[in-house]
Amino acid sequence: MTGAAHPTSVRTQPAPPIEDLRCALERRRSDGLVRVRRTVESAQGPRVRVDGRACVSFASNDYLGLAGDAAVAAALREGLARWGAGAGASHLVCGHFAPHEALERDLAAFVAPCDGARALLFSTGYLANLAILSALAGRGDAIFADRRNHASLNDGMLLSRARFVRYAQPDATVLRTRLATIRARRKLIATDAVFSMDGDLAMLPQLLELAEAFDALLVVDDAHGFGVLGEGRGSVAHFALASERIVYMGTLGKAAGVAGAFVAAHPVIIETLLQTARPYIYTTAAPPALACALRAALDRVREDAPRRARLFENMQRFRAGARGLPWTLAPSPTAIQPLIIGPNAATLALSDALFERGLWVPAIRPPSVPQGSARLRISLSSAHSADDIDQLLAALHEIAQRGSR
Ligand code: PMP
Repeated sequence: MTGAAHPTSVRTQPAPPIEDLRCALERRRSDGLVRVRRTVESAQGPRVRVDGRACVSFASNDYLGLAGDAAVAAALREGLARWGAGAGASHLVCGHFAPHEALERDLAAFVAPCDGARALLFSTGYLANLAILSALAGRGDAIFADRRNHASLNDGMLLSRARFVRYAQPDATVLRTRLATIRARRKLIATDAVFSMDGDLAMLPQLLELAEAFDALLVVDDAHGFGVLGEGRGSVAHFALASERIVYMGTLGKAAGVAGAFVAAHPVIIETLLQTARPYIYTTAAPPALACALRAALDRVREDAPRRARLFENMQRFRAGARGLPWTLAPSPTAIQPLIIGPNAATLALSDALFERGLWVPAIRPPSVPQGSARLRISLSSAHSADDIDQLLAALHEIAQRGSR
């Protein structure tokens, strides 16, 4: 080649912006905050091959074992044969297909947060939360948000440009005072229904009462409750609540085993999202075949009660067997069972020691959880056998005994 050399080929140091980024990454490494991806080499399920090693996995959100379900996979294949690979456009252009429409109807009827509720599909829960908060709140409005809310709700608040006010459960008095004193055109209370790093439940009945008392909407992110609680209908059904003030968000990539999310709410709220939510309007619809798979998954969620019962049996078995461990098992009634270790390094070491024993349990560190409360996030599934649970318990007790010697 005869042309002038590319200018970067003579550089000895990376460009300053790259150097800045490299230093920031280095700081993360020295703070024990670097995240690494492991590569899964088999289908999702309780037993996976990961980085060349056979493992029992307690890492996924596949709480009902539907990610590997044969009927769901068959529905996906049939969907692909009939509807092709891609939606081709956003829902409002030409990407809204009959399977999407049918799934929205099924979901609205199943979750039914109020009489006559409608549902709207999204490609991910992250996008659904951005859509809800940015479309239902804006400048002059206020969003009251639990401190432990998922990052997607926090990002939705930023996108909305509304004022936001944080509160911490279980003390609802602070929230009540703030709701009473803060002036805003529209008020939203936004909460995870099942806190994703703790597994405990939001006080939805109290929050709904406050929403009614102060004329607010209640946004419920039920990523970890849909499919699991309330006979599968989620946390709102678990508490036997129904109200036109509830904006319900459920994800479809966790207990439902596939991908995507939906919002179920009063038809006026759904129409507002459809007409105005930018994270709904400006993105390509998920492939219609996914909606076919999800309809099969929803059949399982609705009708396969023994599957859900196995999940709850596994939780009881794990909680009973974890007594006597030197770490704090958070008081969680859901599939997420966090074991709080504290320091980042000790949590990583425990996760590594389990991995060496063929057990995959992720270490969760700040900023996903508060400083000093790093933990193992043990996710249980109805697909785990009693032996899988016992194997994890035996390894935890063995490692704890070694540590105490
Ligand atoms: N909300 C909560 C509480 C979550 O845990 C998650 C996923 N980690 C989401 C929303 C986002 O859902 P999705 O993975 O479908 O984007």
